Amino acid sequence: MSEHWNADVVIVGGGPTGSYLGWKLAQAGSDVLILETLPLEKVGAHIEVIHLDQVRFDEFEIPHPLPPERMHLVPANKVWSVDKSGYFEVRYPFYVVNMPAFVQRLHGYARESGGRVVGGAQVKEVIMEDGYCRGVRGTFNQQPFEARARIVVDASGLISAVRTKLPNDFGVENCPVPAEQTFYCTLELRDEIPAGYPVDNNSYLGSPGYWNKSYGEGAVLGIIAPASVNNAWTALTQWRQATFGEPGKLVAKRAGCSPYRRSPNSYVGNGFIGVGDCVYQNKAFSGEGITSGFTACKIASEVMVKALKNGDVSREGLWEYNVRYFHGQGAKFAGVMMFLFPVNGLPNHEVDYLNRHNIIFCQDDYEYMNFNYELNLPAERWAAICEQLSTGIKEGMFSENSLQLMNALYQKACQVSAHYRAYPVNPSGIEAWSKVTREYWGY
Ligand SMILES: Cc1cc2nc3c(=O)[nH]c(=O)nc-3n(C[C@H](O)[C@H](O)[C@H](O)COP(=O)(O)OP(=O)(O)OC[C@H]3O[C@@H](n4cnc5c(N)ncnc54)[C@H](O)[C@@H]3O)c2cc1C
Repeated sequence: MSEHWNADVVIVGGGPTGSYLGWKLAQAGSDVLILETLPLEKVGAHIEVIHLDQVRFDEFEIPHPLPPERMHLVPANKVWSVDKSGYFEVRYPFYVVNMPAFVQRLHGYARESGGRVVGGAQVKEVIMEDGYCRGVRGTFNQQPFEARARIVVDASGLISAVRTKLPNDFGVENCPVPAEQTFYCTLELRDEIPAGYPVDNNSYLGSPGYWNKSYGEGAVLGIIAPASVNNAWTALTQWRQATFGEPGKLVAKRAGCSPYRRSPNSYVGNGFIGVGDCVYQNKAFSGEGITSGFTACKIASEVMVKALKNGDVSREGLWEYNVRYFHGQGAKFAGVMMFLFPVNGLPNHEVDYLNRHNIIFCQDDYEYMNFNYELNLPAERWAAICEQLSTGIKEGMFSENSLQLMNALYQKACQVSAHYRAYPVNPSGIEAWSKVTREYWGY
């Protein structure tokens, strides 16, 4: 027998962003249905151990995690120099958290607030009527279902189960994330680590690998790599062997992927909203996407509640979500993405030079970026940095090409941030704005 559901809002995906958004909407009195393809207890199990910024729990009004969901609170992350002879500490506390337990807690809050959370419901089709997204169809326990709503939210992560099925003329980019803009992340969970290995949370300049705390005294070793999950396993094995050998006992392997891409130019259409990894709201400096996705969800919930109350769930009625996101976090991330990714790729001795002269790869800049989600590079500081780098060139420690590259990226990053802060306040300006956006990102 097929199921028919109705709700004010259907959310596709019961991961962190879909669950948080569903909870906030239900709290505000909306009738919410969250559809998740996995059994609910399996959500997040492919990653298992995650890190969540402590400061964001108050910002998003989420009770702080407790054991056993919370494994540790790590007050500072150690960032090691390229030659690993020393480190600086980034004092930005992170919780080490069991992801399935965290997500299940969000499911519980959504239910307690009156929302429905359904596991085993895979969305396969989008219902489009009169230019509006009116619902979704799929299978629930091997039987067909149909779910209708005034607003459909895509929170299905990188898969983008709804967004990629929207019609071409809907006003929301519907392409899947290209493989070259996907980051694969592989993890090894290790136990029984002998003395002499790192403790706490550690990352390494000039290397994409990290060593963090896991359950008890165990460690999670991870890497981010492009192209494919196999590539990421190879990179992790090579990096781990070269840096640490075979520390302790391997107890589990986990893997997944995240987008690394400029945001689509609009997150909304008639009766539709996208949040989280599905629309690339990941932190532009680390790829983590949970708390940065919550920034968007908070705005989206306020706009959706207003739209439902006003009886206007059109693109215009939901547009404010675009505007508030892009004028804030979106503008910051666009600037960071434009600048930091290529600078990360500078030769190791130049990264080391920047680190030793407190330029970007240093404690103050990392702390600033974590707290504020943007680089701290006002024009006067940039001028002083350029002077320092000119000295580095004279001393043969830094190359003219790298300075020119950084300077060009800096100018472009400032411009692109300003462009996002001027995101059009209504849909009529989007075509002209998108034309300039295309020039910045070259697509
Ligand atoms: C190995 C790894 C480690 C990471 N570590 C961190 C970290 O420490 N901190 C951090 O902030 N971020 C981390 N990230 C990124 C983080 O996992 C994502 O940014 C975050 O999970 C995005 O949340 P989301 O709800 O948008 O999407 P997802 O978490 O991907 O959730 C989407 C949900 O939609 C469901 N779904 C998919 N298709 C359908 C469908 N057709 N029908 C119904 N449901 C569907 C999926 O099953 C899934 O449960 C990590 C990523 C990886 C890969």
